[in-house]
Amino acid sequence: MENQNAFITAKTFFTILLLTLSLLPGRSQEWQQQVDYVIDVSLDTAKKTLSGELTMTYHNNSPEALSEIKLHLWNNAYKDKGSFFDRQNLASNDSKFYWADEEKMGGYQEIAFTQNGDELAWTHPKNNIEYVSVVLPTPLSSGSSTNIDISFTSKIPYIFSRGGWAPHFFALTQWFPKAAVYDQEGWHLFPYLEMGEYFSEFGDYKVSIEVPKSYKIGATGVKTDSSVVDTSHVRHTFIAENVLDFAWFAGDDMISVHKSITLDNGHPVDLHYYAPKNYILNDVKVADSLVPQIEGVVNNNLSPIEMLERSLRFYSQEVAPYPYPQVSVVVGPLNTGSGMEYPMITLIGPTPNPMSLDRVIAHEVGHNWFQGILGFNERKSPYLDEGINSFYENKYMDQHYGIESRNFQFMYARTDLDFNQLLYLGSYQRGDLVPVNTHTHDMDLMQYYFNGYMIPPTLFQKLEEVTGPAQFKQNIIDFYQNHRFSHPTIDDLRRVFVKNDPEQRDFSWFFDDILTTMKPYDVAITEVKPDGDMYRVTVENRGSIPAPVTLKAYDGAKVMATRTTKDFKGTTTVSFPMDDYDYFAVDHRLVIDQTPHNNKYEFIPVRKQKFLNPVAGLNNPGINKIWFDPYISYNYIDGATFGLGLHNITLPGNNFEFYVQPGFGVGSNEIVGLAGMDYFLPKNNSAMRYINFGWSAKRYSYQANEEAGYHLNYFRINPHFKIAFQTSDKFNPWYKTLKISAPIVNQQTPAFNDMGEFDQKENFWRVYPRAHFQLRKYSPVNNVEVNLKAEFLSYDGFQNSAEQYLKTSVELKTDYAYAPEQRVYARFYLGGFPVNSARNIGSVANYLVPGTLGISSQSYHDYAFDGYFFDRSEQSSGILKRQIRMEDGGFKNYLGSSYAMVTGNSNSFLGAINLSLDLPVIGKKFPLKPYVDLGIYDDATPSGTGSTFLYSGGIQLGRDKWPVAIYLPLFGSEEIMNIHKEQGNLWKRLSFRMSLENFGVSEKLRDTPLSQIGIFQ
Ligand SMILES: [Zn+2]
Repeated sequence: MENQNAFITAKTFFTILLLTLSLLPGRSQEWQQQVDYVIDVSLDTAKKTLSGELTMTYHNNSPEALSEIKLHLWNNAYKDKGSFFDRQNLASNDSKFYWADEEKMGGYQEIAFTQNGDELAWTHPKNNIEYVSVVLPTPLSSGSSTNIDISFTSKIPYIFSRGGWAPHFFALTQWFPKAAVYDQEGWHLFPYLEMGEYFSEFGDYKVSIEVPKSYKIGATGVKTDSSVVDTSHVRHTFIAENVLDFAWFAGDDMISVHKSITLDNGHPVDLHYYAPKNYILNDVKVADSLVPQIEGVVNNNLSPIEMLERSLRFYSQEVAPYPYPQVSVVVGPLNTGSGMEYPMITLIGPTPNPMSLDRVIAHEVGHNWFQGILGFNERKSPYLDEGINSFYENKYMDQHYGIESRNFQFMYARTDLDFNQLLYLGSYQRGDLVPVNTHTHDMDLMQYYFNGYMIPPTLFQKLEEVTGPAQFKQNIIDFYQNHRFSHPTIDDLRRVFVKNDPEQRDFSWFFDDILTTMKPYDVAITEVKPDGDMYRVTVENRGSIPAPVTLKAYDGAKVMATRTTKDFKGTTTVSFPMDDYDYFAVDHRLVIDQTPHNNKYEFIPVRKQKFLNPVAGLNNPGINKIWFDPYISYNYIDGATFGLGLHNITLPGNNFEFYVQPGFGVGSNEIVGLAGMDYFLPKNNSAMRYINFGWSAKRYSYQANEEAGYHLNYFRINPHFKIAFQTSDKFNPWYKTLKISAPIVNQQTPAFNDMGEFDQKENFWRVYPRAHFQLRKYSPVNNVEVNLKAEFLSYDGFQNSAEQYLKTSVELKTDYAYAPEQRVYARFYLGGFPVNSARNIGSVANYLVPGTLGISSQSYHDYAFDGYFFDRSEQSSGILKRQIRMEDGGFKNYLGSSYAMVTGNSNSFLGAINLSLDLPVIGKKFPLKPYVDLGIYDDATPSGTGSTFLYSGGIQLGRDKWPVAIYLPLFGSEEIMNIHKEQGNLWKRLSFRMSLENFGVSEKLRDTPLSQIGIFQ
């Protein structure tokens, strides 16, 4: 039910707000500062330093006097480990800078600020060496200008990000002390980041650069002069007017291509394409096969410089003629297909695929309009520069390669979803999404990709469909004309759309809802009915945003007719003239639609959806599919088990998931196996990521007596409820979950008659209420996992005595990389019983005294049947029974069967430390490593030894993160070594771990950050 009053009030409020806005002058910003630079620098290619002088002319157009000027020293991001740049990279699973040696680091070595020859005092605001606040002795009054002279020497870092050195190459980006933007909101100071771009004042630049003679330079601006300095050095001078930034690139083996063109409006532009002859990318030399691409023609008869021309003409026609005199593309040591834009120049990675090359050139050239000339705050609103620019990039690609060039074909073929839709829906299921207009600092890498590049282009496409292409183009042209060379915001864009709209629409569905909220969006075609010479198509808006939709009638890929509705919720009907269509589609491939399969009505379905499918696969949400996979499993009592699994667990994920895996145990003649059901409620853009409840069940045999002729089995069903929380600090993200569960276990036990003969099986039912709070941090240098657990049990003990306990534990698992990919692992465990009625009973670890903690966790410690064991009965003769789990004390020793009163068990408390080490050099390649375990346990039984310290160590084969490892204990406390001696020779103490219970696919898909899976690496 909808609250009508609230809805009307909100609508009235927005109408008033909008009227107020439209009464304001045509722009949100009434004044802006101008900062001009004259820079004179020398590049020392041997020392990799840059030194020189800079004169900054600051024009104060603000209404206030300024007593200080704030600047960015972004090169200092490379000066210290621990900078925001470093922290964000680690959070994105990138440790290249973290491991950089001194030679590869950067930063300012000397800097001084003077005004009229007098030195100026300066400080680092917020204690951040990337920011400088220069104090003016006399405040700079409104409307006046001043010169500040800056002399500096700066060490150039290795190219970890957009700028730096690589063999034979220098990329000078974000390289000089640069004034921060000062506007109505104050000073905009922000750190240099890999993920997150800029916000800069417009100004004029004159930059002189001295380099060795062998170096060619491509730069922002136009070269006005080249003069010989000495026999080996030259000085080039560039000027650029009304730009946001200045970047330059120098290489000593660069080749270049040049072309002069004239735009349709008669404006001449010089095009340059530079590329090094020898690419060295991440220390690997890239094949010379790229050289012909630079010099000649690539396989679609378009050379890179022709691609550059084509995209420059495209944007000039779609938006406005390119206003600057030159444009350059420089190929440098970035990743293939990536690029970084600067005014009039862009740096791109070596991209052998012509289509990808064309795409990256078009994209980066387009940034001259969307952020270069329309100077958006990229850090705050990446959806404006990247989003609008990617919208035009798509348009360019559609024009030249067809709409199919956008798709990840493999996935599309299987799901009818393109790659972006699949990724969006997967992330929606994980509860990872935040609104499009979120600040960069509040997003992780994946959210940034979504809200910068992936979602906005399809939203702007929808906006274009709603206004119609001609009106949309006019709106963008008006927006450009009103706001070029200034800092427009989304409000400015909105104002143009509202003002120009012939139907006086307010577009609140777009600006107030889709861009700024995570309200559900889901439209569907529910009916197509012939009616005379028309088709009546009924569309339902099932989401909560009253929005207009666009329907298209297709013949193949060709659009035959288009209809756009008014803003609506519920249903509406649209008419199309009768024709030979293949299908209708509504909001076709709009990324934010949550059930895309119902956005299409096919007259003859192209692809039949099969209900049953083998193994596993991708799915389209809302389509019911089941996967089947035959399997074989094994345990000692059930023997080989042949079964058939059925499940609906897929990418991108369903709200409801189930699996059922029955099998027949040849050894036990029993039906055994697993089953489970889960419901997930994704909570995007909230403190929670998702809520999950469900149950899992399993049944296996665990004990047998061949003489008496019985098999015993257990049945366990585990209802659970879980909340996964959203991370708060994206520079130091902690993933938190809270799980409440209550495994209900039925365990068969043998009952004997007076003669001591097997009489019958008895059933014990027990319920173990539990709480588990988990904290995790992922980092390539320091992973942390903390588990806080509590378990309560009330049960019948010996002779039906009423017993109970409360068991609590703290576990900290961490690793620390001492070199790339080489770590020290540590686990700290403390567990105990604040309450335990059986604390001093003369028995441990059996079904009459459950809960017992073990220094090494063997099958008999798994009283609630959480784990998977090959031989719970411990009757086998080989290694099968010597399986341990990484629980309780975490020792790797197999200490014998539960029938022996083994050492290391406690009904009171137990603490342990487990350490292992990746060996230097060989540890990287071969997973053989030493480990050591230390522990203390309290044996509180009447015959017990009290608090006892134990230790043991040896070597393990297998990494700690693997689900499987083999251990060979070599030394240890006397008690432990005595047990091992009784077991026989060295190989009889081999033990192993196989932690399959930690391998829940669905949970892993939802809880592992995408940066860890490596999609964005
Ligand atoms: Zn971009």
